[in-house]
Amino acid sequence: MAKPDCQQCGACCVSPYNEEVFCDVTETDEKTLGKALVKRYVRYPSVVETASAMLSGRTPYWGAISTRQRQIRAGPLRGVEVCACALLQGSVLYRVACKVYNKRPRVCRATIQPGDRACLNLRGNMFEVIAEWSQGHANRRQKPRRR
Ligand code: SF4
Ligand code: SF4
Repeated sequence: MAKPDCQQCGACCVSPYNEEVFCDVTETDEKTLGKALVKRYVRYPSVVETASAMLSGRTPYWGAISTRQRQIRAGPLRGVEVCACALLQGSVLYRVACKVYNKRPRVCRATIQPGDRACLNLRGNMFEVIAEWSQGHANRRQKPRRR
């Protein structure tokens, strides 16, 4: 099976739980991104978040890229609202690009590869969103109008 084309996807840059931040950034990533991008896009946990993570046995994140809520403008998900990494450009499942592709954080390079299990699962979830969205539209079209 041919590998999916990331430039026509972007599913792994979408936050499924509408989180305020998405991909973790390490100190090394910060250096690669440079001050201007860090200042604009990287968020740091508050003291309360750090303490609460530590108290519940989790490792607090160092920093992470913020997310942005946006409505998809083109392609099969046109009109759907998603929460995605603020550095993602374009329309998910149609045409996308990472604003910092050559400088993207390590987690983006290491955790998922096009065509691997995680990738296919995420894409599958996106196609389910499309199916639900289309069904919702069909139902709305069939509903008689109130007079
Ligand atoms: S790795 Fe997979 S899920 Fe991520 S953008 Fe590429 S094709 Fe889509
Ligand atoms: S930095 Fe780029 S590759 Fe990583 S989640 Fe954001 S848009 Fe996707």
